[in-house]
Amino acid sequence: MPQHSHVRGAGILAACLLGTWLVWNARAEDTPGFNEARTRMVELDIARTGWAREGVKDERVLKAMRAVLRHEFVPESDRGEAYADRPLPIGHGQTISQPYIVAYMTEMLQLKPEHTVLEIGTGSGYQAAVLAEIVAKVYSIEIVKPLAERAAETLKKQGYETVEVKHGDGYFGWPEHAPFDAIIVTAAASHIPPPLVEQLKPGGRMAIPVGPPLQTQNLILVEKLEDGALRRRSVMPVRFVPLTRSKAEAE
Ligand code: SAH
Repeated sequence: MPQHSHVRGAGILAACLLGTWLVWNARAEDTPGFNEARTRMVELDIARTGWAREGVKDERVLKAMRAVLRHEFVPESDRGEAYADRPLPIGHGQTISQPYIVAYMTEMLQLKPEHTVLEIGTGSGYQAAVLAEIVAKVYSIEIVKPLAERAAETLKKQGYETVEVKHGDGYFGWPEHAPFDAIIVTAAASHIPPPLVEQLKPGGRMAIPVGPPLQTQNLILVEKLEDGALRRRSVMPVRFVPLTRSKAEAE
């Protein structure tokens, strides 16, 4: 008799464990809804060449775009839109960039795993996370303090320990950690900031939107050649929020 009840007890326990496992798995399946949306976004909006749009081909970049949970970097109310190929507001008048542009600019930098990258305009931290999937170290500067703080928190929560975020005016770069293999500016500048050119390694690349605020700008690829000479090439029209300066610093 006691033997029997043991068996039955074990059966009930097994059933409970199975039930718990099923419930857990069902919950875990809800996030993969995002997973599929992300895979679809990479295939259809980023890798595919379409009308007036060149598909991103760098496998490292595509892998990074598949890996970063963009929905964790957008406001909770906009999570359903996280894998649509468009920018979204992140508060303080700023936006998280469109995924295609994030991927395209990342590809422009021709990153290698051992690289150190400087980003100007941390915003949500999403672009920094994409970079961190590919390179060894990312330094990122954000001029709006609450955004810098929130991005640092999100990046930490998502396990991106190789990203360092600082609140400040990125126009001046981050001389303590220079020179950088690559620099990415994710706000539109009226000109290429000389301190950033200075902090780029010979052989390094910079992606920067240059042009008037609140209008179409040119996405520029700046290459610093081994002899220090600069080569600039305009690669496509883009629209970014303006690169603001310290005196207009929003706290
Ligand atoms: N890369 C971001 C999107 C950035 S939007 C992302 O992945 O979410 C541009 C950001 O640049 C904004 O957050 C804006 O506050 C910031 N910014 C504007 N001027 C700046 C400056 N001079 N230095 C640093 N950040 C700046």
